[in-house]
Amino acid sequence: MAARKKESVTVHWFRHGLRLHDNPALLEGLCSCTKFYPIFIFDGEVAGTQLCGFNRWQFLHDCLKDIDDQFRAEGGMLYCFEGDPTEVLRKQFLEWNVDVLCFEQDPEPIWQERDNKVKELCKEMGVQCIEQVSHTLWNPLTVISENGGSPPLTYSLFIEVVQRIGSPPKPLKTPNPAKWKCIPKTEEADRSYKLKPLQYFACQEMAGQEKKRWIGGETRALDLYDMRLKYEHEGFKSDIVMINQFNPKLLDPPLSLSPYLRFGALSIRKFYWGIQEIYEEVKCTSAQNHVTAQLIWREYFYTMSVNNTYFDKMEKNPICLRINWYQDEEKLKAWTDGETGYPWIDACMKQLRMEGWIHQVARHAVACFLTRGDLWISWEEGLQVFYKYLLDADYSVCSGNWMWVSSSAFEKFLQCPSCFCPVNYGRRMDPQGHFVKKYIPALAKMPLKYLFNPWTAPPEVQKEADCIVGRDYPEPIVNHKQVSSRNKASMNEIIANFLNNVPSHCGPSKEDEVAEFAWLDPVPDVKCEASDNCKKAEMYYHK
Ligand code: FAD
Ligand code: MG
Repeated sequence: MAARKKESVTVHWFRHGLRLHDNPALLEGLCSCTKFYPIFIFDGEVAGTQLCGFNRWQFLHDCLKDIDDQFRAEGGMLYCFEGDPTEVLRKQFLEWNVDVLCFEQDPEPIWQERDNKVKELCKEMGVQCIEQVSHTLWNPLTVISENGGSPPLTYSLFIEVVQRIGSPPKPLKTPNPAKWKCIPKTEEADRSYKLKPLQYFACQEMAGQEKKRWIGGETRALDLYDMRLKYEHEGFKSDIVMINQFNPKLLDPPLSLSPYLRFGALSIRKFYWGIQEIYEEVKCTSAQNHVTAQLIWREYFYTMSVNNTYFDKMEKNPICLRINWYQDEEKLKAWTDGETGYPWIDACMKQLRMEGWIHQVARHAVACFLTRGDLWISWEEGLQVFYKYLLDADYSVCSGNWMWVSSSAFEKFLQCPSCFCPVNYGRRMDPQGHFVKKYIPALAKMPLKYLFNPWTAPPEVQKEADCIVGRDYPEPIVNHKQVSSRNKASMNEIIANFLNNVPSHCGPSKEDEVAEFAWLDPVPDVKCEASDNCKKAEMYYHK
């Protein structure tokens, strides 16, 4: 590293990584700086703002406000700009006489062009550029090079490679808040660059319907993190790992940290080491990979996508199977709006749109229904809907999961299209029907017996329940039994072709990887026929 001037001016550029704890780029940038400008640039794309519903805007805005508040408590502020990052930075480098620019690596390929331009600018203007890896546990590029130049194709291979690299770094300290006194804040700057109110950015499309269930920001993330570790502690004491997957609680206040990890309000390394340490404390033995397996899946998808600019597309994406999906705007709209006539699916989609977060099992259910299970509509369509509404949606993890669930990639064994029957799967996950009734008030009085397939309720039952199917709640848009048989046949054909011509890096190698990925119990040895629709699902979810 070039020697730093005694009195340097540093800009820290926040994009993801919206936190002050465990932020190596921030720490390095702060070293020996006398003036410090923390900035955020709204460019229409940053942090996934290109397609962003109200809840996601709100969450991002909370994150920025939280950082701004922390700076303001010491007399500083977060500087916010709008425009093309290279142009904004060029102007500010001159105006502020900047020596150092620092930022966290944004590993997804969609950010590379932006960042390369900025790195060029730094060279041109003699600004030292510090980029540090902390959105992921390992640098995806290091994993690829350790694997001989291409991403490890399976999860087990991935584990082998990262074991060779070594444990991820431990989290770094949080800067002393006194440091924020170095942030120049003038009245003029406060007028021109302060964070504008949420209403300025967010579309109010869902106003009135969307509920603020999630509060964004580092402060909230750290509180939730403490609660989550206590919960993991309980789990380990009862011999359960990944307790909130093991025991899906669809109605409790969510303890998920995924939106915070996605925006970087919580450090992934802090979460990783927090869980490992709790495990070791409870079990008095060193933690194995399975304890943090879900975090490794996240790494896996970042690594798979880092050099693949078509990772969120079917065409030109070398790992994605070409499937002749239907185009059906009407059915796609019904799915998006939660109007499919399958209450379990609709409740999940309503929750997604109203609150921005749904449980893993709900994601599986709706993704399977849209794609290989029922509607046979492309996962790319579902991805767009998730991008807009899901708080934690990002390019790599979301696309990776959609490809998997739709059998487009990573998948060889989860071949049964009826595994996620929209009726029985719902019954299994929501045995009392409270979840469905909460999100679909029209079904509030429907007896449990018919709640998951209300079209089968006799007319007098529908009348008694104040819910006539076709009037107060939609008829099912497809017949699951029929379409799942047809889809299964199509999928088998595709798989037969595929097996003759296996594209590189497709597929986990073992059934237990699938089970682990999808949070299924070990795959039972049952032949699944679409005719006995959901026997296999029953087996999977026998807990
Ligand atoms: P936990 O079990 O506590 O997991 C902790 C963290 O591990 C998560 O925050 C996430 O970062 C990571 N993780 C967990 N499961 C997975 C997985 N299957 N793949 C990769 N990482 C995982 N997760 C996202 O973070 N962003 C997405 O855009 C996303 N899209 C999804 C789309 C579909 C169709 C499906 C089926 C799953 C998707 N997931 C996504 C994975 C998973 O559903 C969520 O990460 C999880 O529900 C978050 O809840 P949690 O924090 O309680 O999870
Ligand atoms: Mg979590």
